[in-house]
Amino acid sequence: MSVQEYLDKHMLSRKIEDAVNAAVRAKTPDPSNHMRKAVPSVITKVKARQILDSRGIPTVEVDLYTNKGMFRASAPSGATSGMYEAIELRDGDKGTYLGNGVSRAVRNINEKICEALTGMDPTLQAHVDQAMIDLDKTEKKNELGANAILAVSIAACKAGAAEKEASELSTWLFSILSVPLYKHIADLSGKTNLNLPVPAFTLISGGKHAGNNLAIQEIMILPVGAKKFEEAVQMGSETYHHLKAVITEKYGAHECNVGEDGGLAPNVARHVFREGLDLVKEAIDRTGYKERIKIALDVAATDFCIGTKYDLDSKSPNKSGQNFKSVEDMIEMYKELCKDYPIVSIEDPFDKEDWDHVKYFSGLGLCQVVGDDLLMSNPKRIERAIRETACNALLLKVNQVGTVTEAIEVVKMAKDAHWGVVVSQRSGETEDSFIADLSVGLATGQIKAGAPCRGERLAKYNQVLFLSTDLSMLSSSFPYLMKMCGGFLATNLHQEVVLQLLRIEEELGEHSIYVGDDWRQS
Ligand code: PEP
Ligand code: MG
Repeated sequence: MSVQEYLDKHMLSRKIEDAVNAAVRAKTPDPSNHMRKAVPSVITKVKARQILDSRGIPTVEVDLYTNKGMFRASAPSGATSGMYEAIELRDGDKGTYLGNGVSRAVRNINEKICEALTGMDPTLQAHVDQAMIDLDKTEKKNELGANAILAVSIAACKAGAAEKEASELSTWLFSILSVPLYKHIADLSGKTNLNLPVPAFTLISGGKHAGNNLAIQEIMILPVGAKKFEEAVQMGSETYHHLKAVITEKYGAHECNVGEDGGLAPNVARHVFREGLDLVKEAIDRTGYKERIKIALDVAATDFCIGTKYDLDSKSPNKSGQNFKSVEDMIEMYKELCKDYPIVSIEDPFDKEDWDHVKYFSGLGLCQVVGDDLLMSNPKRIERAIRETACNALLLKVNQVGTVTEAIEVVKMAKDAHWGVVVSQRSGETEDSFIADLSVGLATGQIKAGAPCRGERLAKYNQVLFLSTDLSMLSSSFPYLMKMCGGFLATNLHQEVVLQLLRIEEELGEHSIYVGDDWRQS
């Protein structure tokens, strides 16, 4: 691309002219600094590298540069992958990382995506994402790789948030009252009523996430009765540690190993569901929180569905095939479990192609029915599920859809259908806490980020915790801040800034609301 083509493509002449005019209007004594702040930020470079995820498998990390700074993001990766989700690009060379390297995805970023995005405005998330979709040209993002595209999309989103901060507030105020990532995401989606989600903590791991005999993938707890997110974290952590003690007493400390998302992974294969649920119930009883804690399951039934039967002993080599259940048996079992335990949500109760039974089961109204493998975060499958009233909640795995813009769109689809929305981790995670801000910014009401244990899981919960404590602290200190800054504001800043502060104060009050009992309606 020639220099002239570059200037034309990014309308740089107009942007420079606008910045010069703004400096003249402001009669600034320091025009170059004023112009630097006034010029909208553009992406100047995108640089990727291969890192390892929480399972020790390669994934993509990106540094996206603008004239305001550097913004880092990385892509997670799951154990399940289906034919309807965006494709993770892996090298396939068995001699290197057993075929799991992502050097092609990294090269695609450093060569193709970097060139396409350089000069773009990171606040225009939809344009940035569309540019990558256009460059890729495939339906499932297999040319550039969804792992490459998603990491860049998230980094651009972080850059977009920072650009708003830098342009709307002075550097001094910026450090005190910055516009955070969740706020930028809320703006992108047009969401105004924000709240903090109910965390779904994994307490017991099984299925593909653990080496025990448990066929189902997760037994989770939802502290819906907490008053604040902070209390929800406390309730989750205490229950987790009580469960560890219960398991140690019953089976010995050697059964306290953990699965991929940090859930405890004892061998509870004899009465598959009930034995695990009894352990969790005992742990809840020991906390004294009683009905303030509810239970959720991710059955991930596709993983042990053989033909039309479900093999509950699929992970016990010597018993596999002896405990087959028909779909009718499964329905009866779920009915009884919902009666005997405080179960409020079941994810993937049947095989991912068994739309009829998911629909029938949802129709019973026993609990929230979440579509994960059923939907694969795919807009067409979500549309079908809404049309056919199959399930009534979306499990959003951002890397299955591939960009921030598309993630916002599918959440809107689900919300418009009055579904619940669970923003979800993947079993292979990184320390990137983006989904925490996504969940708050889209007011999804639910976040599933694994156990209250292991760094890459806690990166998400701790970020929501930060938002909750930081926001309420700022909110309560706002009148003091206003008083302190009053004179300064009156003489040095535009009235817009004062209005902006008032707007922020208004928002802060709302943001610290924990969604609690409204976890499905948020
Ligand atoms: C899940 O099934 O809900 C999940 C997070 O697992 P994975 O990332 O392994 O697909
Ligand atoms: Mg699942």
